[in-house]
Amino acid sequence: MAFAKENDAMQLVKSKAEWAALLPPAAYRVLFEEDTEHPGSSLLNEEKRDGNFVCAACFLPLFDSKAKYESGTGWPSFWQPLPNAVTTKTDFKILYPRTEYHCARCGGHQGHVFNDGPKPTGKRYCNNGVALQFVARANRLPELRT
Ligand SMILES: [Zn+2]
Repeated sequence: MAFAKENDAMQLVKSKAEWAALLPPAAYRVLFEEDTEHPGSSLLNEEKRDGNFVCAACFLPLFDSKAKYESGTGWPSFWQPLPNAVTTKTDFKILYPRTEYHCARCGGHQGHVFNDGPKPTGKRYCNNGVALQFVARANRLPELRT
């Protein structure tokens, strides 16, 4: 959370080739080719410990476990990102527009946000698990990737 407010000055820009060399293929495809993982495929669906979910590409903290909930979709779901952690844009890949969101620091694609989430926000941030890493509260957050 401490990192997110500084992210305008901390944008991380790498080419797709650089990211492809750094990341496991499945994570690269979701983060930088806007692929979607199969529902139910992520171990993070079951992750219920206290902690933070950080971007798997640049390690910016994106979600607090306090905002995670079981949506029944098969994707890790949150009702709120950390402040300034994600940016959104509208995609028209299927017939109706959907709002996709990206890590505010590296631009990595995380998932889509819908308006059928629980209170207090009513939002459902439907995230690809492979685009996140869980860091338990007791552990140090990783240094941001440079
Ligand atoms: Zn990132």
